[in-house]
Amino acid sequence: MKNLIFIGAPGSGKGTQSKKLMEDKGFKHVSTGDLLRAEISKKSKLGLEIKGVMDEGKLVSDELVIKLLQANVDLKKYKYIFDGYPRNIAQAKTLDSAVLDKSEYLAIYFKVDTEKLVERLTNRRVTADGKHIYNLLTNPPKVAGKCDVTGEALIQRDDDKEEVIRKRMKVYEESIGPVLDFYSKKGSLKQISAEKSVDKVYTEILKFLA
Ligand code: AMP
Repeated sequence: MKNLIFIGAPGSGKGTQSKKLMEDKGFKHVSTGDLLRAEISKKSKLGLEIKGVMDEGKLVSDELVIKLLQANVDLKKYKYIFDGYPRNIAQAKTLDSAVLDKSEYLAIYFKVDTEKLVERLTNRRVTADGKHIYNLLTNPPKVAGKCDVTGEALIQRDDDKEEVIRKRMKVYEESIGPVLDFYSKKGSLKQISAEKSVDKVYTEILKFLA
């Protein structure tokens, strides 16, 4: 099986699909957003700096993100889903040369309309570690405000507020085009229509893995 690179705007379903693939196919999931949030929760000086950048919807520096990524992947042992990385062409090139090296991969682009995404994100609720994801409209928890699996309180991420979301979308749209071209030229890009139901999107992804 190949490593997977999930490309898609915030809220396009990358985290949800990753969770299913981890459970069914044994992938490891590495999300740079989750790694950054883990750093923030340590309340370190670095964490505070990261929070400042994230709360404005901007991108954290490439140097910092690649360091976090390298410290958290072991490609000799596992197959990975890269989620939220790369976000720009420089990161795509670094991922190829400094992380993946000669490991095989497939990039999957989750295509969704921007307004759909704003609706999805403002209704997203997660556990503090980001591992369990709900949507108040399409996938609500059984008990309001509580995770079905762990029972802990669900929160809305600070960067899931509408104003920040629109800024994140803009940042995403400005930088992702060259990333898609990069993988397309290598012949390793697949596209899915991520507006479909979770199960339909999953079936499409499985076809690419066959
Ligand atoms: P996400 O959880 O992927 O939506 O990421 C949340 C925020 O973390 C982004 O808005 C950025 O501020 C930061 N972030 C996540 N991944 C990256 C990355 N690859 N490069 C730079 N910043 C990132």
